[in-house]
Amino acid sequence: MIPAWSVHPDEWKPLLKDRGLRAFRGDQIVQALYRDYIWDWDQATTLPKDFRETLKAEFPLVPPTVLERAKAEDGTEKLLLGLQDGNSIETVVIPAYGRAASGENALTRLTQCVSSQVGCAMGCAFCASGSRGLVRSLTADEIVGEVMTAQHLFATPENKRQGSGLCLTNLVVMGMGEPFANYDETLKALKILNAGKGPNLGARHITLSTCGIVPGFAKLAAEGLQFELSVSLHAPNDELRSQLMPVNKRWPIDELLDACAAYTRQTGRVITFEYTMVKDFNDSRACAEELVRRLKRLPSCKVNLIPLSPVDHRPDMKTPSEATQLAFLDVLMKAHIQTMLRRSRGKDANAACGQLRLRNLNDKTSSQQGAPQ
Ligand code: SAH
Repeated sequence: MIPAWSVHPDEWKPLLKDRGLRAFRGDQIVQALYRDYIWDWDQATTLPKDFRETLKAEFPLVPPTVLERAKAEDGTEKLLLGLQDGNSIETVVIPAYGRAASGENALTRLTQCVSSQVGCAMGCAFCASGSRGLVRSLTADEIVGEVMTAQHLFATPENKRQGSGLCLTNLVVMGMGEPFANYDETLKALKILNAGKGPNLGARHITLSTCGIVPGFAKLAAEGLQFELSVSLHAPNDELRSQLMPVNKRWPIDELLDACAAYTRQTGRVITFEYTMVKDFNDSRACAEELVRRLKRLPSCKVNLIPLSPVDHRPDMKTPSEATQLAFLDVLMKAHIQTMLRRSRGKDANAACGQLRLRNLNDKTSSQQGAPQ
């Protein structure tokens, strides 16, 4: 038994052949899965009934259960999804609006933030998912299933993209979990989502975010794909970073930045550093200046400043004032580092749980942008 959403569109024909089934059905299956976005094999009405029964037995199609939907005022929607084994994960769909060609305000981007694990083993101080430890990694089928669920719930005749019919424009692996700690299944899922015959989501529209598991960088570079990479840095030196992120004791900043520089040199992709600002901890002018010096190690990079979203288990950690955030931004901008100050999205939907950070990576309309000078 192989779960249907874990099969790469190019693999269907050989898999059918191996089982003595008609290989030409592979095209019909791919069409049903990734153009009609079926949810159940019985919806694949182009296929004969007995063949659908074979598919049910050999390649089960098991969508997650939507346990809860929480919609914020800004349109961001958080979903709680139930998996087959009773575990649950979160995924967030974030719309961005801008001026369309017609001059009207219209949906310009639909970003989904997916989880790669149930819980997380990394134990970053301010992260709600990590505070409960790792339960297990997700399979590629479950990660693709998160996207298929969003497609099922959010696709409309207006927002379907030409060709693939996918409603999402961007995907970020920034939900629960550490993607480099579940490298194989995460990459398998991303390659399926990227496949031309599949959902056809462009690699440059897919972002992985890592806390800095160094061996992952060379592995990803060797894939020869154009995925975007974000790195959670959060501090300019080892002393502060190790207090926030246990992973820093294993791979300290210099080692991490060297891996980032090698990644950029090898792939030509510019890495974005995430920097969550915590009041009176890593938000001083001195920290900003030290960060600038540190980042000089890289041929080029971008920075996303994220004001801390407070979590229950660390009441001592607070969000810096807006003035402090802007002062930090100013230091980076003056040093010609392309920096975005993120505005939190979907706060009202997020409040109850706090496990997923609702952020719209490319939402320039609701962010303060620091352009290179
Ligand atoms: N494990 C990956 C991806 C998941 S977390 C990683 O570490 O990058 C996605 C981002 O949200 C990370 O940058 C993480 O540090 C940040 N984050 C987690 N909790 C946060 C909080 N309470 N406030 C602001 N950012 C947070």
